[in-house]
Amino acid sequence: MNPMQEKNLEVRRAYNANLGNSVVKALETNGFKARYVPTAEEAVKAVLELVPEGSSVGVPGASTIRELGLFEILGSRGCRIVQHWDPSLAPEDRPGRWEEENMSDVFLTSSNGLTLDGMLVNIDGTGNRVAAMAWNRNRIIFVVGINKVSRDVEASLQRIRDVATPLNAISKDIDLPCAKTGYCVNCKVPQRFCRATLVLERAPFGRDVHVIVVGENLGY
Ligand code: SF4
Repeated sequence: MNPMQEKNLEVRRAYNANLGNSVVKALETNGFKARYVPTAEEAVKAVLELVPEGSSVGVPGASTIRELGLFEILGSRGCRIVQHWDPSLAPEDRPGRWEEENMSDVFLTSSNGLTLDGMLVNIDGTGNRVAAMAWNRNRIIFVVGINKVSRDVEASLQRIRDVATPLNAISKDIDLPCAKTGYCVNCKVPQRFCRATLVLERAPFGRDVHVIVVGENLGY
């Protein structure tokens, strides 16, 4: 790394910490239990502090959680991962797996978006993920990379459609118009991803909701 690259990295770290800590304060104001960690490695440690050994852990379609390598680590601590992204799962068994995922001891996910005033913004195709974010009766943990922070709900929805969804479509090899254009065209195709939108303005009543904001880019 040359001196300029080192300097830029240092500046970015300081910026991410300032932004991350600001968002954490806003999340706490909204009733979420939130903390900022600078690196992915520390995000893993923060998750492990919140997941009891031997618990069932439901993970929906969340590339951030897989990127952190949490399945292997949680498995080694006796946790049972419940996920519908399982290639051996027969299509007729998928609805049952969604329900099991959503009712696990811990629901571990990311969020498509996070606003400066501490709201979590998500768009789903099937609706299973947003349902659990609002209704899992046990512990809910969000791990959110700094790349997902936007000014407000409108900017967050725009980022999800223009950035997250095209990347998601490319990663799943799904033929969506935004995967080709690189931005949302408000498509009408049958395979359209964007169908159910959830904005968690506050932590839902009676729920134990944690948000770990990470000072690195994670997921989409
Ligand atoms: S509405 Fe269609 S084009 Fe726009 S982000 Fe969603 S899937 Fe892509």
